[in-house]
Amino acid sequence: MLHQVNGQKTDSFSNGSDPLREDLHVFLESEVQLAELDDLTKVNPVTPATVLRCLQERYHGDIFYTNAGCTLVALNPFKPVPYLYCPELMKDYHVAPQLQKLKPHIFTVGEQTYRNVKSLLEPVNQSIIVSGESGAGKTWTSRCLMKFYATVANPSASQESHETVERIEKRVLDSNPVMEAFGNACTLRNSNSSRFGKYIQLQLNRAQQMTGASIQTYLLEKTRVAYQAPLERNFHIFYQIAKGASSRERLEWHLPEGAAFYWLPNSERTLEEDCFEVTRDAMLHLGIDHSMQNNIFKVLAGLLHLGNVHFADSEDESQVCQPQEDAKCCVATAASLLQIPHEELLDTLQVRRISAGKQRQVFRKPCSRAECETRRDCLAKATYGRLFDWLVSVINGSICTEPSSWTNFIGLLDVYGFECFPNNNLEQLCINYANEKLQQHFVAHYLRAQQEEYAAEGLEWSFISYQDNQSCLDLIEGNPVSICSLINEECRLNRLSNSIQLQTRIEKALSSNASLSRNKLSKEPNFIISHYAGPVQYQIEGMVEKNKDPVPPELTQLLQHSQDSLLQKLFPSQEKEQNDPLSQSRAPVITVVSKFKGSLEQLMQVLHSTTPHYIRCIKPNSQGQAKKFQTKEVLSQLEACGIVETVHISAAGFPIRVSFQSFLERYALLRKSCPPQPSPSSRLPSSSPTRKASGQQLTSEEDAMPQSLIRDILLTLPHSVQTA
Ligand code: ADP
Ligand code: MG
Repeated sequence: MLHQVNGQKTDSFSNGSDPLREDLHVFLESEVQLAELDDLTKVNPVTPATVLRCLQERYHGDIFYTNAGCTLVALNPFKPVPYLYCPELMKDYHVAPQLQKLKPHIFTVGEQTYRNVKSLLEPVNQSIIVSGESGAGKTWTSRCLMKFYATVANPSASQESHETVERIEKRVLDSNPVMEAFGNACTLRNSNSSRFGKYIQLQLNRAQQMTGASIQTYLLEKTRVAYQAPLERNFHIFYQIAKGASSRERLEWHLPEGAAFYWLPNSERTLEEDCFEVTRDAMLHLGIDHSMQNNIFKVLAGLLHLGNVHFADSEDESQVCQPQEDAKCCVATAASLLQIPHEELLDTLQVRRISAGKQRQVFRKPCSRAECETRRDCLAKATYGRLFDWLVSVINGSICTEPSSWTNFIGLLDVYGFECFPNNNLEQLCINYANEKLQQHFVAHYLRAQQEEYAAEGLEWSFISYQDNQSCLDLIEGNPVSICSLINEECRLNRLSNSIQLQTRIEKALSSNASLSRNKLSKEPNFIISHYAGPVQYQIEGMVEKNKDPVPPELTQLLQHSQDSLLQKLFPSQEKEQNDPLSQSRAPVITVVSKFKGSLEQLMQVLHSTTPHYIRCIKPNSQGQAKKFQTKEVLSQLEACGIVETVHISAAGFPIRVSFQSFLERYALLRKSCPPQPSPSSRLPSSSPTRKASGQQLTSEEDAMPQSLIRDILLTLPHSVQTA
C-alpha cells in the first residue's frame, strides 16, 4: 500500500537488480517465519527474492503447496508423500467448514470448485488450469484431483445409483492409465512425460454426483513413433507389448523375447509405466474387449516391424530403392500384421505417384532412399495418430453420458507449459501460443479479482499502464496478418517454401509489432517472439512442412485397402475421393496450425464460461531429486508460469498488506494525535486478494478502515519507509 503509484510498475522485476541477492529484510513483518506464510502475496515486500525464499523454506519443511493470490503453487516433492493424498485427508478438506483455514493443498482447489458448482443460487461450471514445465507434476496433480472428485462426488442415494456411480468413477479413473500408455513416454525431463495436452470435463448431476466425463486432447507428438531423441523412448505402450506379451501373443505378433526394434530404443530400462497388465485391465473396464485389444496391439506390432525396414540406395534415379537385406522379411511381417498386400506396401514406400497435365495423368517416380524412409515414418505416424484419436473417442463413448444426465462440470486442463529450447519449431510455437492465450485469460481474471477486492475495500485504483500480452497474441494469431496466417499461406499456395523468403515476408508484414524481432547473428532463418515468459527464437526451416503434416494420398489409400477391421475404421474408404491424387490439389488444406488454433479457440470459449482456478506446478530441480531446491530453475519457472507476473501485478497494486493492528502498533507513536485504537480485528486490505474470486465473502471484520487515518500516519513516516 505504501508506495503504490497508480499504473506504475514499482516492483523490482523490471529494474534489472538481481532478485536472488536482494535484501529480504526491508519492511514490516520481516521477522515472520517465511515458511509459515501460506500465501506468497503475504510476503513483505513481494519480490522474487522473498517469494523464492518463502517457497524454499517451505520446501525444506516438506510443505509443497503455497497460495499465490488466486493461484496455487505446487512444488514437486520428488518423493512419495502418501499422507498428503490419502482418502482421510480428502474427506477432511471435503467437510471443512472454512476451507481457507486449512493448509493450501490441491484439495482446497478441488473442494472449492466442488462447492462452487453446488452453490444453488448460481451454479457455475469450474475449470482448473494446471500448468508447469515437463516433469513439474501436472499429470500427477490432475490424477490426484480426479481421485479426489471420485471420492467426494460419491452418492448417498440408493444402492443402485451407488453402483452406477462407482462404475463410472472407476471408468473415468481408468482412462488415465490407458491415455498414459498410449500418449506418454520417457523423455530426458520426465520418465512419464505426457506427449499431448488434455482437457477433461468431469460431469456432475444436480446431486453433485459424478455421472461421467469427456476428454479432449491436443497436439499428440506423433513424430515420436518414428523418431526418439537420444536417451528417450517411444510411447510406453510399445514397451508394454514387447515386454508383457504372452507366449501365444508373441507368436501371433512376431515378437520373440528380446527381439530388437529400431523404434524401441532404451528398452533395457524398466519403468513402472511398463506394466502391460494395468493398461489391459483399464482398457477392459472401458469396454475395449480382449479381441479389440488384440487388434490394437497387432497393429502396433506391425508398426514396430515397419520401423525395422531400412532401404539401400538405388543404382540410379530410375530404379526403385530396395529394402536392405535383413529388412526384407520385416516388410513381409509388417504387411501381414497390418493386413495389407506385401507388394503393395513395398511399392507405396518406394514409388511416388504424381498427377500432371491436363488429363491429370498419373506418373510413377521412384523415391530416393531418404524419401522411402520418410514415407515409412509417415505411414507409422498417420496410423498412430489416428489410433490415438480413435482410442480417445472410444474412451469418451465409455465415460461420457448424455447431456440430460448432468448439469454442471469441473474441467481439468493438463497442458504443456511454456517451452524454450535451443531449437524451437512449430511445436513450440503452438505450445507457447496456447500458453499466451492462457496467460491472457489468467491476467484478465486476476486483474478483475483484484479490482473487485479494491472496490470492496473502498480503495481508488486503476491499472492504467499494465501491459498485457495482446501484442504478442496479435503477432501470432491476429487478423488480417500474423505469423500463423503467413505460415498457413505458404501451405495453401503450395509453393516451394524457402525459409529466407518466409522470414522476409514475416518481417515485412509484421515489423510494426514490438513483440517481433530476429537474431541477425544467426545464419539460420529465424524470428524471435517476445513472450510474456521471455523471448524465444524460432527456426523457420521445416516449419511449413510440419504445418502441412502431409500424408501422401497413396499411403492413406494403402491403409484403406487393409483387411484389418481396426485399420478399416481408422482409414474409412469414404475418404477415397479426397485422397485420390487426381482430386488432391482441390482438397482444402487443414494445417496443423489451423487445427490447433480451432481447438484452442474452442477451449478458450469453454474456459471463459467457467470460473477458473490455477495450479502452477514447479519442479524444484531438474534432476528429480527430493529435498533439492535450485533457486535459478525455480525462478525461471515462476516467470514462465506467470507467478512472477501475478506477483508483479500485486506489486504494481498494493504490494504491502499490513493488518491495521500491527501498523498502528508500530507507527502510531509517530502521530501525535493518534485517534483511539480501532478494534484489533480491523484490517487493511489484507491477506488474500482473491477471497472473492475463490468464492469467499469478505467478512465484516475485514471492512476497510478510514483512508484518512492511514494517510495521516503515512505522511508522518520517513520517506525511506514510504518507498521501501
Ligand atoms: P508433468 O505432467 O508436469 O510432466 P508429472 O505429473 O508426470 O509431470 O510428474 C513427474 C513425476 O514427478 C511423477 O512421475 C512423480 O514421480 C513425481 N511427482 C509429481 N508430483 C508429485 C507429488 N505430488 N508427489 C510425489 N511425486 C510427485
Ligand atoms: Mg504430464
